[in-house]
Amino acid sequence: MPDPILFVVDRDPEILKCLAAALERRFGADYSVLTDGSPISALRRLEQACERGEDVALVIADQRTPEMTGLDWLARTRALYPKASRCVLVGYGDAVSFAEVRRGLALGQVDTFLLRSCDNPEERLYPVVSEILGRWSRATRPRVPILLIVDERWSQRSYELRDLLERASIAYGFYDRDSDEGRRLLREVGHAGRLPAVIFAGQVLTDPTDSDIARVLGARLEPEAELYDLIVIGAGPAGLATAVHGASDGLRTLVVERQTVGGQAGTSSMIRNYLGFPRGVAGAELASYAQEQAVSLGAEFIVTRGVAGLEDEGAEKVVTLAGDRQIRARAVVIACGVSYNRLEVEGVGDFVGKGVFYGAATAEAPAFAGQPVFVVGAGNSAGQAAVHLARYASEVTIVVRGEALTMSDYLVRQIKRSDNIRIRFKTEVARAEGRARLETLDIKDTVSGGTERVPAAAAGDVRARSPRGVTAAVADGAIAIRSVREYLGEE
Ligand SMILES: Cc1cc2nc3c(=O)[nH]c(=O)nc-3n(C[C@H](O)[C@H](O)[C@H](O)COP(=O)(O)OP(=O)(O)OC[C@H]3O[C@@H](n4cnc5c(N)ncnc54)[C@H](O)[C@@H]3O)c2cc1C
Repeated sequence: MPDPILFVVDRDPEILKCLAAALERRFGADYSVLTDGSPISALRRLEQACERGEDVALVIADQRTPEMTGLDWLARTRALYPKASRCVLVGYGDAVSFAEVRRGLALGQVDTFLLRSCDNPEERLYPVVSEILGRWSRATRPRVPILLIVDERWSQRSYELRDLLERASIAYGFYDRDSDEGRRLLREVGHAGRLPAVIFAGQVLTDPTDSDIARVLGARLEPEAELYDLIVIGAGPAGLATAVHGASDGLRTLVVERQTVGGQAGTSSMIRNYLGFPRGVAGAELASYAQEQAVSLGAEFIVTRGVAGLEDEGAEKVVTLAGDRQIRARAVVIACGVSYNRLEVEGVGDFVGKGVFYGAATAEAPAFAGQPVFVVGAGNSAGQAAVHLARYASEVTIVVRGEALTMSDYLVRQIKRSDNIRIRFKTEVARAEGRARLETLDIKDTVSGGTERVPAAAAGDVRARSPRGVTAAVADGAIAIRSVREYLGEE
């Protein structure tokens, strides 16, 4: 396969030459850098590249090219390369272009902007392009798997494993036991026992628990000490923030998480409203940054092991971990989030992991390429799931009981712009059916009472409204440390 293309269009041959040279220096080993002074001829060349089956990762355009604006050109490249990232160039002092670009950014016509200069590329050009290419590569290129899972395609346990690994940002390969590759892998490792089989570095784990997998990957499952200043229960955004602030205040801090870091936020395909990430950040990515930050400040983590009990014993709290190990702390912060109701509709429970997914279904999205998908809910999680799934599914239908969407405006705009997302207001899922996996849904019109049976590959229950959001959870975590200090009498 030829290298993916980075295509730059600019009216000024000098700027074009120096931008291309800068991009070539940093990204030339993995990408092919192409340039053109004319958007019309650039479009023709992109059409030819598309016919040859070549991939384009990033298109960059000067907003003031002579034949059409950069934003218009970028919009036209979308039909050829819908997954390519889009970036517009604006000159210093060009207030008119800045105003146009600001509108383009707000409407989601373009992913980001760069200043039309190649001075100091280390400051903005390289970091922005690296981030964009990293995201493009994660979404479109096969990742080298660390773990291989072989199981029945629609087994609930393998769905749980895929979900866990996705949230923990661990690359994995999944193979249907009946596929040639699945059979070959099982033969190679000599496994004829129960499934799922999880293969890591030639070693097979038979139907492993989450902790078995964490252990084999080198995660900590036992605390280092018997007594901590602070134990944080739960590693969602609130728990992570508590750990960062606790550890930075010098408290010996342990975080205990029954699954993996990130909590609900870890299931989010793209968080756009958290401070400091202008191009958005995947929930799992944000969580792993926060964990790294907490660890670098001295916090300790135990994952895949829940807290089963908590008792007062004089000035200390006794925390019982799953498996009955007890540890002590001078203070405990409980940041265990919420758990949500499931969709109580006939048939739905039978297909969890077999076409019915809760949350944003990030791990499952690629499996629904070319198939119709239904998302239930009107809030932010539903919007994020729909936008994410629309990149793979033939059509995404959002089923909304009420008459309006309750999600953030940026998601409403993204949905309106999408060609393959439709919304059905005043409807609800009345029944799910299938054989080995979900095949049809009955969608009921809540006004007329009429029911329509529709084919469906996946359906995700996503609630109408997130109770607080990441920012509030992080703020709670930070504030909790103040209360901890007051409680410990150290203020
Ligand atoms: C799909 C989706 C998309 C979202 N998108 C956004 C968004 O774009 N922007 C935004 O602001 N918000 C978003 N949210 C909401 C946001 O994720 C939540 O508000 C936030 O995660 C709440 O943080 P928390 O730490 O309080 O709880 P949680 O995230 O629920 O974390 C609690 C953690 O505690 C652990 N835990 C529970 N019990 C125990 C126990 N006994 N022992 C050990 N650990 C335990 C859980 O496993 C979990 O990891 C989204 C939510 C979802 C589901």
